[in-house]
Amino acid sequence: MLISSRGCPHNCRFCFKVEKECRFRSVENLMAEFEELRRRGVKSIHIQDDAFTAHRSRCLEVAENLIRGRYRFDLKIRSRVDAVDGELLRKLKAAGVKQIVYGFESGSDRVLEAMGKGTTVAQNLRAAELTKAAGIGCYGEIMVGFPGETPETVEETIAFLRRAKPIIGFVPVLYPLPGTAVYEEAKKDGALRGDWDIKGPWPWIKLPWTDTYADLQAASRRIVRKIQRDPGTILYFLRRHLPALNWRAIKFLLRVVRDLHLRLRRVPPDPDWW
Ligand code: SF4
Repeated sequence: MLISSRGCPHNCRFCFKVEKECRFRSVENLMAEFEELRRRGVKSIHIQDDAFTAHRSRCLEVAENLIRGRYRFDLKIRSRVDAVDGELLRKLKAAGVKQIVYGFESGSDRVLEAMGKGTTVAQNLRAAELTKAAGIGCYGEIMVGFPGETPETVEETIAFLRRAKPIIGFVPVLYPLPGTAVYEEAKKDGALRGDWDIKGPWPWIKLPWTDTYADLQAASRRIVRKIQRDPGTILYFLRRHLPALNWRAIKFLLRVVRDLHLRLRRVPPDPDWW
């Protein structure tokens, strides 16, 4: 894991930021760390910057140095959908970037605007398409429950994910973190339920169509279920990933099939089976 910059030039209303400013390590300083990691035999690096591509010319320079120096790391970075383009992505691919994580957040322009994200669904789609066209794995982060979310915007998010086909993990319900605009406003409006008490459950923000936290959890589960069972998405991933299957992936798939089988027979899975 490596950090090459601190902070982010944006101000999403849900984002907890310790650093108000945005500052970047110099290319020379960063390359010295890459050199040391290579000397130690490191193969894979997750660059944990909030937005590694925010400073485009610096990012290009780093990529060019990695290509020229034949570093051959497997890199994972995080970026924003409005901070990538075809040229930059192709260069990053050549530099060893295998995965990019984007904060798509939602498939609804209304929700993105409420979040102060500064991006649109069209930009989300474009970034996903360009990333995949460059041969880089496209990972997405999505959340539910931001004020302005409705059952209709949840459906818009499902439709977006079906089109963009990023790799997504679980879909969290918004964490209203103290100090963020969404937390302060919900607290003032009386929409905040609970608070950050070490003994209590996590707080959440009540929306007009929700009665309990479980309603938001159900929306989250609905998104995951719809995407996992979408035939178009399943076919896409099979076509894309079957040719690259290795033993580790086959073991994972066998485990999924076994767990499904056990669940159908209602037998708890044995963790030591492998
Ligand atoms: S969510 Fe991402 S883009 Fe938005 S302020 Fe936080 S780090 Fe920056």
